[in-house]
Amino acid sequence: MPQKTCRVELVASTPNPMAVIYAAFRQCYHAGFVGDMHTKLVDGDISEEKQAAFIKKVMESGHASPIEHVSFTFAIEGVSRALTHQLVRHRIASFSQQSQRYVDGSNFDYILPPAFAKIPEAKARFEKFLDEVGDAYQELKQILEENGRGEKAKEDARFVLPQATESKIVVTMNCRSLLNFFEHRCCTRAQWEIRDMANQMLKICRTALPCVFEDAGARCEKLKYCPEGEKFTCGRYPLP
Ligand SMILES: Cc1cc2nc3c(=O)[nH]c(=O)nc-3n(C[C@H](O)[C@H](O)[C@H](O)COP(=O)(O)OP(=O)(O)OC[C@H]3O[C@@H](n4cnc5c(N)ncnc54)[C@H](O)[C@@H]3O)c2cc1C
Repeated sequence: MPQKTCRVELVASTPNPMAVIYAAFRQCYHAGFVGDMHTKLVDGDISEEKQAAFIKKVMESGHASPIEHVSFTFAIEGVSRALTHQLVRHRIASFSQQSQRYVDGSNFDYILPPAFAKIPEAKARFEKFLDEVGDAYQELKQILEENGRGEKAKEDARFVLPQATESKIVVTMNCRSLLNFFEHRCCTRAQWEIRDMANQMLKICRTALPCVFEDAGARCEKLKYCPEGEKFTCGRYPLP
């Protein structure tokens, strides 16, 4: 039962993302057909600097649908079921998650909360609990198998697995949904685990498409003040 930490890998993204977004924006304001312009954009007939400046300017107006045409697909491992439950609340996304019905959980990996890691007594109690759960899972699975449940034993035995159980998930989001995701999950109001994962995703997006993600992150990054109010502010930016 090893401890795991979050790992985010970009497995796919829309090719020529800036040209796709630029063409989509331009189609809104251009009398001609951007289907004819697209190849020239990819070939660099309009400089990347010019495309980026245009995209940033139009985005500031709140016209956001063109960035929905570009998406990123991430493979993520080393996250808890507590995290994936929060993640899948983001409805404008596609998810494919490792199944606890089909994948044997006898030797499940787990996520150790940093607060437990800091206190030896808490860490020891947590790990004792995980050992007990591992034993219960295996015993229940065996009892079910001996009573004719066969392959289906796993889907019942999993009911004892904790939220700390490690999971793997593939996530696809378009740029607009990612900006919303980062606003919520890069903020210190989000839990440490999903915040760490969101920051890893943001770093990848910023490198791939700076004209869209340069100022992305918690809402304060753009506003330069904290909109979370006195009770929830982390103090990094002043309140309005
Ligand atoms: C700090 C924090 C604490 C939270 N605490 C809780 C909690 O205690 N309990 C809980 O249940 N959830 C909680 N959540 C989850 C939260 O309420 C959202 O469900 C989650 O963050 C997904 O955000 P979203 O709806 O913006 O994203 P998405 O589902 O990806 O939606 C993106 C955007 O599309 C629009 N949209 C999508 N669906 C609809 C719709 N049906 N109607 C209208 N507009 C829509 C909205 O503009 C939305 O912002 C918490 C989230 C955070 C960040």
